Amino acid sequence: MRVLLTRFAPALLALLAGCTDSSPIPDVAPVDVSIDTMKAVTKEISADRYEGRGPGGPGEALTVAYLEKRFAQAGLKPGNNGSWTQDVPLVEITAKNVSPLTFTGKGAPISLKYGPDFTAATYRVTPHAAVKDSDVVLVGYGINAPEKGWNDYAGVDVHGKTVLILVNDPDWRTKDLKGPFGGRAMTYYGRWTYKFEEAARQGAAAAIIVHQTEPARLGWNVVQSSWTGTQHVADSANGHADQSAAIGWIQLPFAQKLFANAGMDFAKMEAAAGQKGFTAVKLDLKANLSFDHDIKKQMSKNIVGLLPGTERPDEYVIYSAHWDHLGHCEKVDGDDICNGAIDNATGVAALVALAEAYQKAGAPKRSVLFLAVTAEESGLLGSAYYADHPVYPLSQTVGGVNMDALPMQGPARDVTVVGTGKSELDDYLDVALKRSAWSRPPKPIRKKAIITDPTISASPSTACRCSISASARIW
Ligand SMILES: [Zn+2]
Repeated sequence: MRVLLTRFAPALLALLAGCTDSSPIPDVAPVDVSIDTMKAVTKEISADRYEGRGPGGPGEALTVAYLEKRFAQAGLKPGNNGSWTQDVPLVEITAKNVSPLTFTGKGAPISLKYGPDFTAATYRVTPHAAVKDSDVVLVGYGINAPEKGWNDYAGVDVHGKTVLILVNDPDWRTKDLKGPFGGRAMTYYGRWTYKFEEAARQGAAAAIIVHQTEPARLGWNVVQSSWTGTQHVADSANGHADQSAAIGWIQLPFAQKLFANAGMDFAKMEAAAGQKGFTAVKLDLKANLSFDHDIKKQMSKNIVGLLPGTERPDEYVIYSAHWDHLGHCEKVDGDDICNGAIDNATGVAALVALAEAYQKAGAPKRSVLFLAVTAEESGLLGSAYYADHPVYPLSQTVGGVNMDALPMQGPARDVTVVGTGKSELDDYLDVALKRSAWSRPPKPIRKKAIITDPTISASPSTACRCSISASARIW
């Protein structure tokens, strides 16, 4: 659930922190959340001296120290066995000497420029990555979903090949929530993380997503700033050797040109890919790309503050927000710091403001965990690490609300839930909304690049029949 605004969220959490299997949802007095705190924290950690809060960068130590101080002032306890932090091992990979991405074969050769035309990166921890004379195949939306009887890789062997993949789910144009992939609501199959994971499972040498602004809901500028420069991956024993040599994006007009060169119509292929039973299409082209890496291992940190519960301290409710942002990125008017004031200093500010609100209201029955996670921009690495290495057992974690990029448009009248129907927290939200002046918009939200992330889902606890449904991200 992304947009549970600050005036409302404590009420929901108070409900969660007090609910039991059989009891009705109790009445909860509204809690004041300090706008001054929201402003102060947002302003502080988005200042230039925090250098855009890149994980491992100079801004990390500043952010960690500041949040420890604010959490302590708000009455929280260090949440990880006496420590305020949880170590998250990462590898920092910075691409350099990136060659053009070239396509040869039918038609005139096409040579794309790194940055404005395409992006390239890799999960592999290796000093050099290359894709050589690799056959190019359009694999539709790149989805293999046996439970839906949908396999875009059926009948095609993509080992060593370069796969082109369409962004979002096949039914993203649907106006409602009906469709094999949830209609307008994006499933995990629509996310870039899934598409790269599946391409690697299929043995592809390179996986390239065709950028389109509408289904991506984000412009090329965001793709370019997020996917060029330093990237982070989780540290792993095999150095992610099982991943594709290269992953990236290309701008739509170049994909259209590739198809035209191959004597095909991109729009027709795209329409066909939206239908069940689509067969992958070979383009009779060869792709070439190479790049080098600077590699640095580093230890980043999740920040963990705990408010112990009064009656059921062994059951936990999580508030989370990612503290990191992009650090230094493409220079604009001489400024290369991506400050991340909205994404996600606002979410972190909400964590602090909520902790203070609880301090004023008194501790609830259940314990509340305030979790500021790292490396979200690199693919939810901090929240994934917490889900794999929870400080408190997930079986005792009864619910969670993640906050990412709080809206800045002014006072709100309604609540938009990202991930509707994916969590039993919906029921609590509905009850709480009935007791407030707020409502849910009548129409479902459009399909966005923001969804509930299954990597941090826990089984519903028997204690409260609530489930963790945290962690949304934009790229
Ligand atoms: Zn974010």
